[in-house]
Amino acid sequence: MTNKLYFTSDDLSGRCTVTSSQFDETAGLWRTRLESTLFHPQGGGQAGDAGTIAGIRVVKTVFDENGDIVHLTVGEVPPGEADAAVDAQKRLMSSRLHTAGHLLAQAGSQHGWTAFKGDHREGESRVVFHGPEGAAAPVPAEWQPDLDRLIADDMPLHAELHDGVRTVSWGFMKPVPCGGTHVRSTYQVGRCLITKMKLRKGELSVSYRLED
Ligand SMILES: [Zn+2]
Repeated sequence: MTNKLYFTSDDLSGRCTVTSSQFDETAGLWRTRLESTLFHPQGGGQAGDAGTIAGIRVVKTVFDENGDIVHLTVGEVPPGEADAAVDAQKRLMSSRLHTAGHLLAQAGSQHGWTAFKGDHREGESRVVFHGPEGAAAPVPAEWQPDLDRLIADDMPLHAELHDGVRTVSWGFMKPVPCGGTHVRSTYQVGRCLITKMKLRKGELSVSYRLED
């Protein structure tokens, strides 16, 4: 199994060891595997990293059917040592959107709602909550000031790794298990707008987007 460097490192480039690179006819791309990787795979509602390995473009990074990490590359990557570089702009956008999801979950909890799932991809970003019994749907203006405050308070990220499970928290927030990538302090999320709140069958779906 590939060693998950992104769990403990925010480095976006470094040396790596390519173990295999096989053409996948369905995808029309090569499935390239590394001993250890800085690339975060798609999962937990977060987009997978893009970048390059040995100068060959990584379109995206995914988990395979065995839970191992596969880099989908546009060409065959020769085995052995190589340079790897994660697309910094795409990673930052993913980290900002994903961290915003955590902060939105926190904002909702301050109004009695419990987040239970989310999708933090650009254009699809939302967090889904279970609410207090019989609660009416809130409107964005009720939660927006709480979200703004969590961002403005610029709370630093705190991450811990125990037996392969990583927990993350910011400031006073309760630690939650998470394998995603995050910004180092909440202000780096930037301006985040709650765009829509929809209550259906007791599930409140809260959509959001970044302003820049
Ligand atoms: Zn997370």
